[in-house]
Amino acid sequence: MINGRFGIYGGQYIPETLMNAVIELEKAYDHYKDDPGFNRELTELFNEYAGRPSRLYYAARMTKDLGGAKIYLKREDLNHTGAHKINNVLGQALLAKKMGKTRLIAETGAGQHGVATATAAALMDMECIVFMGEEDTVRQALNVYRMRLLGAEVIPVKTGTATLKDAVSEAMREWSSRVSDTHYCLGSVMGPHPFPAIVRDFQSVISREIKEQILEKEGRLPDAVLACVGGGSNAIGSFYHFIDDPDVRLIGCEAAGRGIDTLETAATIATGKLGIFHGMKSYFCQDADGQIAPVYSISAGLDYPGIGPEHAYLHDIGRAEYVPVTDEEAVQAFEYLARTEGIIAAIESAHAVAHAMKIAPYLSPDQIIVITISGRGDKDCAAIARYRGENIHE
Ligand SMILES: *Cc1c(COP(=O)(O)O)cnc(C)c1O
Repeated sequence: MINGRFGIYGGQYIPETLMNAVIELEKAYDHYKDDPGFNRELTELFNEYAGRPSRLYYAARMTKDLGGAKIYLKREDLNHTGAHKINNVLGQALLAKKMGKTRLIAETGAGQHGVATATAAALMDMECIVFMGEEDTVRQALNVYRMRLLGAEVIPVKTGTATLKDAVSEAMREWSSRVSDTHYCLGSVMGPHPFPAIVRDFQSVISREIKEQILEKEGRLPDAVLACVGGGSNAIGSFYHFIDDPDVRLIGCEAAGRGIDTLETAATIATGKLGIFHGMKSYFCQDADGQIAPVYSISAGLDYPGIGPEHAYLHDIGRAEYVPVTDEEAVQAFEYLARTEGIIAAIESAHAVAHAMKIAPYLSPDQIIVITISGRGDKDCAAIARYRGENIHE
């Protein structure tokens, strides 16, 4: 990364009113990221509060059943609050605290990042405001309740399509009007520099642990690492410490929704075009006029119309591969993992499991693949039942 850019991607495409906030954040992060005291505190939070290191679990039944590569699961679903999001949020909340901020704001789509931010705010005695599209507050009423229980205020956003992208825009607006006491805790590797680098660094604990754990268990690096991609934070966290190991394939699994040949998709690399939105240059799903297109996936955590700039770059230079996975494939993988390993993974993570199911049989038993299970799937059970034509009471 040079000057906040990954190749031509990234940058700081923001209004003048946000410039001071972003510069202050960049300075603070440059100072604290290599500060031993800061890193000691963060490690303690990771270990004692979030439950790290997460397990690298050998999926023996799945390996045997698919009849090819040896499969390991990186269990981010076992973290406190049930997903990888807590890694980023604890890092940013601690940083905000060091910067003297007393108030965290965040955007949320399905509510997972909002719940994680509200959790960190409660832990660190900070005020917390979460912006959420009004549509989403209705669809995800349980998470709205969770955030309130944790002491956060949830503000429904009524502009635009009243979904995630509008919540991001509103949080940026709020941040620019109140920088003095407020940190914007962004939820993925997107937005203006330095967010893509900050979120990546806090999530890179995933690949640091995978590397240590696989070397201990197998004495060698894996042949491939797979992760699902929404904005791309669990994927870049899973890839980061393998980027300089050219023999490790890095595979990001995007949500194809009803298929990349339909308009009901969220597969940005497969269907998107170069654009500028939410402060960054990257690939975005766009309509014929270059407007941000409405996106669709069965998985609420993956239906963001863009992808983080570092992924756009890794795609262009051919270091990482990005593959589309449909709703139907993800649901089948969700059910398969539950039956085969006794693990109900998030429907987001099931996208990565689905692609692993496609490639593992063609690999040899002396090859190893690691799939990151980004979160647990309790939140998805009612939606999957509905997808299968069964109406269960939530
Ligand atoms: C939010 C979320 C995602 C998608 O976000 P990324 O930034 O792409 O990681 C994936 N899985 C789970 C469980 C999530 O909560």
